[in-house]
Amino acid sequence: MLPYAEDLAYGRWPDILAAAGLDQAFLTGRSGPCPFCGGKDRYQFQNRNGGRYICRSCTEAKYRSGFDLLMRHMGYKTFRDAADHVRDYFNVTTDNAERHVERPALAVVRSIDEWTPEKIARNTGKMQAIWDQANPVIPGDPVDRYLRSRVPGLKEVPQEIRFHPELPYWDPPATLGSRPSLRGHFPAMVVRGFDPEDRFVQIHKTYLTEDGRKADVPYVKKTDAGIGSNSFALRLGAPSWDSIGVAEGIETALSAMVLRPGTVVWPCHSSTILSNFMVPVSLKDQVRRVIIFCDNDKAKVVRRGAGGAPDVLKRAGQEAGATLAERLRKVGIRSLMIQPAKTGTDMNDLAQRIA
Ligand SMILES: [Zn+2]
Repeated sequence: MLPYAEDLAYGRWPDILAAAGLDQAFLTGRSGPCPFCGGKDRYQFQNRNGGRYICRSCTEAKYRSGFDLLMRHMGYKTFRDAADHVRDYFNVTTDNAERHVERPALAVVRSIDEWTPEKIARNTGKMQAIWDQANPVIPGDPVDRYLRSRVPGLKEVPQEIRFHPELPYWDPPATLGSRPSLRGHFPAMVVRGFDPEDRFVQIHKTYLTEDGRKADVPYVKKTDAGIGSNSFALRLGAPSWDSIGVAEGIETALSAMVLRPGTVVWPCHSSTILSNFMVPVSLKDQVRRVIIFCDNDKAKVVRRGAGGAPDVLKRAGQEAGATLAERLRKVGIRSLMIQPAKTGTDMNDLAQRIA
């Protein structure tokens, strides 16, 4: 049976709508112009009750759901179209496996803002410039200090992790039509993300202080505009044998490598991207098994049970791992799921406890 689109989408609307091409200015939670009827401050998105929006004019000051926002943005006529869109975003259609074989990159996210060759070239150029401005990590620099404080037992910082001395941090526009504003320049850890076809599709940034702590910014970890791929991995080294590990976060992946020496582990940024992971085409003949280092997330209520029915719960880390394992199985790749025993922890917490 297909999962309820409501369960999948609960609390995830900013990701879903941004991937569908809705300008992030409409998802900040601040009052601003309405994407449908304009104005100055009549509209607001709220990540409450799973995600909702309100407009003084076109919704008559009544809250409407993320589904309604998606339908109006995409021009869908029925709820079913919106529900299919959501399932598609999370890759839970019935013909999943076949689709992944044919289009391992899931390359183009459907969007009104088309991924033209010019736009792809522009975004790639921006990411390449960030990468070129970054340096290899050396002992004592902010990235080295950050990682050593976060990952006990870390021997070597992989070469694919670089130090950017002054990466700009942009806040989203306060209102539509205005420009993003520059908060400042910060030391940062940067890592490139590659899709299954070896294309450079994303750059992951962690904003730091000079002495290697998390910077005081709204989002310490950010990705770039990218080029519309929702399957990528931060490739921290090449696997030396027939197994490769994957995890959500960078510190989690590094901790997994400390706890399981000899295994190369690639962070995938988030549970959604992790669940979309595919073995790169270039490693197809080498990699036979994927070790999935899951976060042992606490169960979160995604929907209250009505009329005495139990609440619907979701544990994002484990479910992403299970989704990935099932997809890999369908293309003949074995998997092994490893997670810390304690609920609410990840491999990084485990490494810190053992140290
Ligand atoms: Zn409106």
